[in-house]
Amino acid sequence: MVEAHRPARQVRLPTTGLTGKNPWGTVALDCAVEKPFMIPILELKRQYESIKSEVDGAIRQVFDSSWFILGKQVQGFEEEFAAYCGTKYAVGLGNGLEALQFALVACGCKAGSEVITVPNAIFGAVAASAAQAKPVFVDIEPSSYTLDVSQLEAKITSRTQAIVPVHLYGQTADMDAINAIARRHGLKVVEDACQAHGAEYRGRKAGALGHAGCFSFYPSKNLGACGDGGAVTTNDEGLAQEIRMLRNYGQADRYHHKVRGFNSRLDEIHAAVLRVKLKYLDRWNETRREIAAAFSAGLTGLDLVRPAELPGRKHVYHLYVIRTNRRDPLQQFLKDKGVGSQVHYPIPAHLQEAFVDLRLPCGALPQAEQAANEILSLPIYPELTAAERSTVVNAVREFFAP
Ligand SMILES: *Cc1c(COP(=O)(O)O)cnc(C)c1O
Repeated sequence: MVEAHRPARQVRLPTTGLTGKNPWGTVALDCAVEKPFMIPILELKRQYESIKSEVDGAIRQVFDSSWFILGKQVQGFEEEFAAYCGTKYAVGLGNGLEALQFALVACGCKAGSEVITVPNAIFGAVAASAAQAKPVFVDIEPSSYTLDVSQLEAKITSRTQAIVPVHLYGQTADMDAINAIARRHGLKVVEDACQAHGAEYRGRKAGALGHAGCFSFYPSKNLGACGDGGAVTTNDEGLAQEIRMLRNYGQADRYHHKVRGFNSRLDEIHAAVLRVKLKYLDRWNETRREIAAAFSAGLTGLDLVRPAELPGRKHVYHLYVIRTNRRDPLQQFLKDKGVGSQVHYPIPAHLQEAFVDLRLPCGALPQAEQAANEILSLPIYPELTAAERSTVVNAVREFFAP
């Protein structure tokens, strides 16, 4: 039977397009193949290549032990990360959102509580909701993109339980002023330090500036795992203990559940990788600062706003964000030149569909809204070569001063 011996018909199913490798070539898909960026907004592979043997060794160690959850690596990382931040404790978690959520719960947030945060990133609002509290927004101070302290006190009510300042882009919020107000009103301060590993405020590190510091180790952060990860840092032993319970089904001891908890544990494999990378964090942050200084020098005299270097604060440039009222044409111009860029973030939290019930109309938080229309992040990973740094600067210069 001829039929039986006929080779299988060569059917190639189209890929989803997510890989950018569409075997059908001309079929229009969502992620149709585009000219690749000469300088993408982020290229993590370069970091791996620079520390490959150490990372591979760390991962192999985990497999050799085959202890994958809450073991020696997590404990070692917690000790090393607490020491790095200058806190007594660090608790490894599944991600940055749950770090914020658990810190808020451990700080007493519950249904009926209010949490004050900023609207120019979604995280504080989502974390407040995850802790069953209502997010209350304070506008940002536009030169630092962080919480405007002058508007903070007016938002405090009898229901306010905590303040979540966000150290956005790698710049810390004005923590002395925030802590002073919190003290006066008996409120907890939960830092969102997810973009600020190693950032400093008056010589102290982010994560050691409030009651609790919350970190994400999402791969693109200044300190990133090989997947999701997070941590809370604190000097408060009770808080650390409660968060340890919350991450592991509410267990105080094995099979003794003291509270109704969650499952949000940092994996051993991530902890092992993070221990390798933590040794490089200061070096990488210094390089980010050097690149930022070169960008800022190169972009002088143009009609744009550069990131602010503020006295007493050490910015670690998770992102290098410029501001211009010609943002969209600039982004297109850079794209045509092969330079990646991104908007962090285009829609403030109070204008998101998820938070319509807060009934905050357009115009309610004008500084955050205006920033969202004008900000643009340029590529700033430590592995950017000198030539690439110049290409970025020259492309922006060419747009403004052709
Ligand atoms: C990344 C990030 C988070 C959340 O971290 P995940 O690990 O993705 O949950 C929270 N806040 C800020 C400012 C972030 O950048």
